[in-house]
Amino acid sequence: MIEIKTNRRVELIDITERVREIVERSDVEDGIVVIYTRHTTTAVIINENERGLMEDVIVTLERLIPTQAGYIHDRIDDNADSHLRSILLGNSVVIPITNGKLDLGTWQRIIFVELDGPRNRRVVVKVVPC
Ligand code: ZN
Repeated sequence: MIEIKTNRRVELIDITERVREIVERSDVEDGIVVIYTRHTTTAVIINENERGLMEDVIVTLERLIPTQAGYIHDRIDDNADSHLRSILLGNSVVIPITNGKLDLGTWQRIIFVELDGPRNRRVVVKVVPC
């Protein structure tokens, strides 16, 4: 389990090193790790952690799923855009573990996406030998 305190409404947070620590402590040589967010207004993605790209993700989410665009859920909770963005991005990723290490590509990072912050969030990390 990883606890994350977010600071903005929409924010991308690199959690690669925290996942790496859990995987390496587990002593699993070959398997998979599942990173799963239990919230309905967050997401987990794998991509390059480049400052410009992180801004592009935020701008693109706003373009694809604008805030306050007449959503029905906004009548009761005012955060339909956050839920819809979460659905679009997905709530989990799976990464292979090879020789006891996260088997990520050179530019790949694990990124937690806050879509309705700031809040305290929890991400489940399950290491599965196989
Ligand atoms: Zn809601």
